[in-house]
Amino acid sequence: MATPKILVLGAGYGGLMTVKGLTKSLGASDAEITLVNQNPYHYFTTELHKPAAGTAHHDHARVNIASVINTNRVNFVEDRVVSINPSEKKVYLENNTFDYDHLVIGLGSAPETFGIKGLLENAFFIRNIDSVRMIREHMEYMFARYKNDPKEEYLTIVVGGAGFTGIEYVGELVDRLPELCREYDLPQEKLRIVNIEAAPTVLPGFDQALVDYAVEYLKGKGVEFYLGVPIEECTKDGVVLKGGEEIKSSTVVWTGGVRGNKIVEESGIETMRGRVKVDENLRAPGHDNIYVLGDSSLVIPKDGERPYPPTAQISTQQGQYLGKHLPQLMRGESVHAFQYAPKGTVASLGNRVAIGVVGSKKLFGGSASFMKKIIDLRWLFLLGGISLVLRKGKL
Ligand code: FAD
Repeated sequence: MATPKILVLGAGYGGLMTVKGLTKSLGASDAEITLVNQNPYHYFTTELHKPAAGTAHHDHARVNIASVINTNRVNFVEDRVVSINPSEKKVYLENNTFDYDHLVIGLGSAPETFGIKGLLENAFFIRNIDSVRMIREHMEYMFARYKNDPKEEYLTIVVGGAGFTGIEYVGELVDRLPELCREYDLPQEKLRIVNIEAAPTVLPGFDQALVDYAVEYLKGKGVEFYLGVPIEECTKDGVVLKGGEEIKSSTVVWTGGVRGNKIVEESGIETMRGRVKVDENLRAPGHDNIYVLGDSSLVIPKDGERPYPPTAQISTQQGQYLGKHLPQLMRGESVHAFQYAPKGTVASLGNRVAIGVVGSKKLFGGSASFMKKIIDLRWLFLLGGISLVLRKGKL
């Protein structure tokens, strides 16, 4: 019998954990494993708010894929997936085409704009290394321009969305912008960080005491919140809010939500806002040989109605599950259901302050920030062991 071909798309949290697990759970001749990713590196999405604000270099948020996988066992292909054709069992890349027997899709997400006019054309998005490098450089260029042409919009940063990503980014801006003002000889009192959220609260779903702490802390640092106010339009001059108020800003960063990757939506696999509602073994509906994980997937808790939010934590656990159990699933054996075990959530408010829940314990300030760093180090450890922790880790 021919050796089965396993094709894994995307070297994010889910995809990397899958291939790392498969190299342990499969013998060298049991399957051909191919991993496709559009960059030669994996980026730590959970840390992208730092290079976006300029509080860390973007190289701290990425690692070469070849250095963290066993390239004797995994054929790593640097290429962009263009389309997936489940009926042909083929994946088309920009420069190649691959057949598969078993497909694992971990292509992450795309920004959800909720149809807001002008957002895709005029806003920035915290998505990957290229996009955050652009945000930082654009923001600094605007600060440099102010000296010659003192328009208030050059020093006004609008962050759309006050969920996890938005609040973490605002926290970094609070650390970084005063430094930038000194660097560019700018009056700090002219600086504006405006965080706009359509929901009535920041960090929806978080405990109220943690939310209050975050808002008080950030307000104390000068952040202006507009809560319960949707953005209706984003233009090249700023944003227009419901009710007509315009906030002029030459840097608008949208963090208001994600949807699944379009490639999955266009493959004919059933999706909801681009995400695939997977079965208990992470299979796509109607496709016995296609597995979907991470932000491309949708997992609804057994006793709940709303899906788990898309996080690195669930993506990692899904990758660990498939890395261990895909060989049995490939053989048609029955395998226990994937069970997400949430370990808690911590949101940073800059380098030294955070809020979060770990187990049943609420954490605030410095202790939460320490916990956040431990969580980041854990990912480095899972990915590349102690040597990667020593190379990239920061406390
Ligand atoms: P990703 O990690 O997004 O990886 C997808 C991979 O697919 C990437 O390598 C990408 O380059 C590749 N890819 C995409 N399209 C193609 C293509 N066409 N061809 C080839 N390759 C492609 N979650 C937490 O649990 N905790 C946090 O603290 C946290 N903080 C966050 C902070 C920020 C600023 C952001 C933006 C997100 C945060 N998240 C956090 C969410 C978390 O990062 C995501 O849920 C997680 O990255 C999803 O993992 P994934 O494996 O699905 O995909």
